[in-house]
Amino acid sequence: MDYNVNDKGFYGEFGGAYIPEILYSNVENLRKNYLRIIDEDDFKAEFDVLMRDYVGRPSPLYFAKRLSDKHGTRIYLKREDLNHTGAHKINNAIGQILLAQRMGKTRIIAETGAGQHGLATATVCALKGMKCIVYMGETDVARQQPNVQKMKMLGAEVRPVLSGNKTLKDATNEAIRDWCCNPSDTHYIIGSTVGPHPYPDMVTRFQSIISEEIKSQLAGKEGRDYPDYLIACVGGGSNAAGSFYHYLDDTRVKLIGIEAAGMGIDTDKTAATIHLGKRGIIHGSRTFVMQDDDGQITEPYSVSAGLDYPGIGPIHANLFVTRRAEYLAVTDDEALNAALELTRLEGIIPALESSHALAVFGQKKFRPDDLIVLTLSGRGDKDMETLLGS
Ligand SMILES: *Cc1c(COP(=O)(O)O)cnc(C)c1O
Repeated sequence: MDYNVNDKGFYGEFGGAYIPEILYSNVENLRKNYLRIIDEDDFKAEFDVLMRDYVGRPSPLYFAKRLSDKHGTRIYLKREDLNHTGAHKINNAIGQILLAQRMGKTRIIAETGAGQHGLATATVCALKGMKCIVYMGETDVARQQPNVQKMKMLGAEVRPVLSGNKTLKDATNEAIRDWCCNPSDTHYIIGSTVGPHPYPDMVTRFQSIISEEIKSQLAGKEGRDYPDYLIACVGGGSNAAGSFYHYLDDTRVKLIGIEAAGMGIDTDKTAATIHLGKRGIIHGSRTFVMQDDDGQITEPYSVSAGLDYPGIGPIHANLFVTRRAEYLAVTDDEALNAALELTRLEGIIPALESSHALAVFGQKKFRPDDLIVLTLSGRGDKDMETLLGS
């Protein structure tokens, strides 16, 4: 079984590029060029240098001794929280800005919910001297002020979006609208493994530096280059896809994705797309979508702003239906407890998104000799208010 994208842009029955005619030439231009450009020596050399000297890679693979003892197993944390700007999103933003530059683009647009992807994009635009416009729902602008302030300081223009529920889905619609109007000079940096082909594959490739590093780091520490389990949280699915990538065909490795149950999967305040979604199309991709009986996309909810997307990357929809990966749903309360636990046991304050992955140890029992790698996708600085309020 091949779990990667095929040459038509599909993962099994999922993915593709369901886009309006007006976007066709932009997306087609990207599709025709991305593999060639990211394979060029000059691209790879610049990407490697920036990963090392700007982002701070390789990110450490840390053996969490007290957390391991507590749960009676062996747990390593892949420390994406230590990256510049505080999460894995910068890996993809750097890859895409280098691509945009080589395609002759001078203006960058992005959508953001919690502001982490907007921040990563504003950062790489400052680095490259590119014009940057970030679309953000007005509701999110109000509740994510620290990230809004950072984006502005970095020179980005933050455009509040007033349509719909004024959150991520609406910001994405607005960014797509902008791209339609400015096809020649603008590149749209999507922040997760979502959107029309080739975005899910392109973002997965940029994030696959995570599993590439896990391989060599585990070989050095354990004398074997694969774990028994890989665990990561799933919003759109980019940190999980990057963590799984080099192990997709290695069935010795069990893959676990954790989505946000919000108040619970038996309530309507949830973002558990794999558990509750139905097949549909969202932002150009066929996947599982949270929708009502009329096919209207419903508003997702999670305490974590990075996980409340009503779709899921097509790679994960396929890993789920083929049973290559298992997906669990974790509630707000379970995630908040897991955040406190990691903080007190290891002195690491995790992002709320990553805390969902950490809550796996409350749901699933592992054996003492199991070797587990859990991707800590980001740090908790941005979530202090929520973490302390709990
Ligand atoms: C955005 C974000 C996520 C969710 O995005 P994915 O594409 O699913 O990885 C997870 N963790 C952190 C820290 C984030 O900022």
